[in-house]
Amino acid sequence: MTGRSGGLNETHDPALRSWVMSANAVDCDFPIQNLPFAMYRRSGAGTPFRCGVAIGDQVLDMTSAVACGVFGGAAQTPALATTGTSLNALMALDAAAWSALRRALSGALRVDAPAQSTLQACLVPQAAVEYALPARIGDYTDFYTSIHHAANVGRLFRPDHPLLPNYKWIPIGYHGRASTIAVSGAAFPRPQGQIMDAGNDVPALVPTRRLDFELEVGIFIGTGNAPGQPIAMDEAEQHVFGLCLLNDWSARDIQAWEYQPLGPFLAKNFATTISPWVVTLEALAPYRQPFTRAPDAPTPLPYLDSAANRGGGALDLQLQVLLQTAGMRAQQQMPVALAQTSYRHAYWTMAQMVTHHTVNGCSLQPGDLFGSGTLSGPTPAQAGALIELTQGGRQPVMLPNGETRAYLEDGDRVTMRGWCEKPGAARIGFGECVGTVLPARL
Ligand code: MN
Repeated sequence: MTGRSGGLNETHDPALRSWVMSANAVDCDFPIQNLPFAMYRRSGAGTPFRCGVAIGDQVLDMTSAVACGVFGGAAQTPALATTGTSLNALMALDAAAWSALRRALSGALRVDAPAQSTLQACLVPQAAVEYALPARIGDYTDFYTSIHHAANVGRLFRPDHPLLPNYKWIPIGYHGRASTIAVSGAAFPRPQGQIMDAGNDVPALVPTRRLDFELEVGIFIGTGNAPGQPIAMDEAEQHVFGLCLLNDWSARDIQAWEYQPLGPFLAKNFATTISPWVVTLEALAPYRQPFTRAPDAPTPLPYLDSAANRGGGALDLQLQVLLQTAGMRAQQQMPVALAQTSYRHAYWTMAQMVTHHTVNGCSLQPGDLFGSGTLSGPTPAQAGALIELTQGGRQPVMLPNGETRAYLEDGDRVTMRGWCEKPGAARIGFGECVGTVLPARL
């Protein structure tokens, strides 16, 4: 297991049941073993967003729960940190505090808990709420940790040498933009940009014709580090608060023209959508897996290697991306799955991202967000972006209603889902990350 947050304890017991009956349904994303955090309010209320914990189909309002006095001892400080206007104060604490709060929540929400009669009044149905971003995100960094994605995309541009020579040595990333990150449910206009069409020698300013999604995991940084102070591998996961789903929308034609020599810019920063619920690293402990690489892959440099990372640095988080076109919505047809994969196929782990990001002394702050990079698995059906699924747009995807998609059209709605399940552990889910493409604003 990786670090102290990686251990299993009573909160992971698959036999635990909650007095919130909906949490005990077999396919529920939010059983008592999950306990993710979000910022929410009653839909349309216009009141400030508050911290809530998901339990079954309900939200436990933390401000009310704290006022009821159910959090004492080591849970008191982290519980108080949830009563502000974002999760940053909670994230700024440490793994021991997050763990104490999880233990207290687990105790208060389980069957026969004395707190039941008090906390019953602190529940709000999820169906009646809307969400904000969970944190004030100071900085957003997008990585490129799926070797399958890197190779699939690289092959389209460089059939002879799809992977660049640095890939197996450095967790590649770029600094993204926090101002356009939105919570699930967001709609955004198709971006315009400079596009250089093949055969032309002058670019045009036009709406993108190659709008894509990227299936990613979002990683929220908790405890920060001081400038100049690198975070070593053995401490790295102590700085991770939790994970969400992330859609890093991309305009491939804008990207192709602008990305050299400094990397992605306007093709990436017009919209990023994340799921509202942040699943803590501790909740994911049963789903850690050994981090393995092909025998011919180089051993990482010592600063990116650790026994704990080799033993349990990977995470078996199932990820799925679904599409519902405007036409499908009009016919009341359900979204159709385009791909499914697991986070465990990533080439670089969360710990390696944190350590590499800080090796030069760069400081991370509570609420900073990492994107994992598009997560594609080893097979074509596990590709996390349309550019891979359609071979650069050359082989459009056929939808059940007869429509085809090379890239996203106006009105398309992309949904991402994530969950963990295996025998002997409680299934936990991430909920949904949904975003809709609107016509270009011209
Ligand atoms: Mn990305």
